Amino acid sequence: AHPDPAYTAELLDFSKETPIVALRSGHQGLFEYTDGRGIVWGSYVTALENGWGIIVQQERREILAPLETFEHISSAILVCGTLVLLILSFYQIRKALQPESHLTDTAVAIASGDLNRRATVKHEDEIGLLSRAFNRMAGKLQSIIQHQHDQASRLEETNTLLQSEIATRRVIEAQLRDLAEIDPLTNIPNRRKLSLFLENEIKKAKRFKLPLSLILFDLDHFKRVNDQYGHAVGDEVLKSVATQVGNTVRDVDLLTRYGGEEFVIVCSGTDLNGAIVLAQKIRQTVQEQTIDKVGQITVSLGVAEFRPGDTESTFLKRADEALYAAKSNGRNRVEMES
Ligand code: GH3
Ligand code: MG
Ligand code: MG
Repeated sequence: AHPDPAYTAELLDFSKETPIVALRSGHQGLFEYTDGRGIVWGSYVTALENGWGIIVQQERREILAPLETFEHISSAILVCGTLVLLILSFYQIRKALQPESHLTDTAVAIASGDLNRRATVKHEDEIGLLSRAFNRMAGKLQSIIQHQHDQASRLEETNTLLQSEIATRRVIEAQLRDLAEIDPLTNIPNRRKLSLFLENEIKKAKRFKLPLSLILFDLDHFKRVNDQYGHAVGDEVLKSVATQVGNTVRDVDLLTRYGGEEFVIVCSGTDLNGAIVLAQKIRQTVQEQTIDKVGQITVSLGVAEFRPGDTESTFLKRADEALYAAKSNGRNRVEMES
């Protein structure tokens, strides 16, 4: 019904009367009916002074058509508006969360090892302060790690230096040990080495019941060589004999300079007979060599085999006694222990 009563009228009930009948009865009002085309809305008013009446009617569809269009437009506007609002809200929320997500990204990057990453401080708000604190923390972390890295490198350098120094020392020690055990003139092991080696061979001979023999030999009339040709020539003779004998013995045998013009051969795993054979071979070899200026040189040899209960000195003593016998019996010969 229209808010203005002047425009309102009684709704006509078609079950009772038609507009015409109503008009004739002096009524006026609104009506609605349905015919083949659909719902029809109308209005009727009683005639003016001359007794005429007016009936106006139109299909409801036609009347409401503009309204429907309006409804469609407003629905579209509503949907679009909601969409725009949603999009705006999304951007607004994203903008509000962005500093935090940026901070999170930075934290994740730093945790993954990118220590150069820093958070961008856009505003001096709480997030800004947090970002600054975070950046300071990241800087500190970076410098601590750098410091540790430097320390590690320095440590590694020191370690390398130490390692090479240790290696050098070992080489020097080995050289010193060798020097202490090598006779500088003949370049063969000295008496010190003989002692260490013999001690060990005696242990082995005792434990494994292995034969072990010694050959002690001495250059014959060497004093004469020195006197006749000089000490330097004497040295050359000593070197030459050492080389000749060194080439004659096996690798397992140890040739040593016992002192002066005396030499000892430790024959590991060799019994008395084997040692005598070797001693004869040595005697023969030396005798057959002609040394520059000096000519022929001979050696006398004493042979002894290890006996249970022997010490280094008792063992050597028997070899020395055999050597003495060789000298006594005319030199350039081999004698065995008695
Ligand atoms: P024998 O046949 O009895 O052994 O007579 P020998 O002359 O060899 O014995 P002696 O012990 O009388 O002389 C050994 C000499 O060896 C004395 C010493 O000058 C010499 N001699 C010892 N060591 C060296 C050395 O390193 N170089 C030289 N050139 N001579 C040395
Ligand atoms: Mg001699
Ligand atoms: Mg001698």
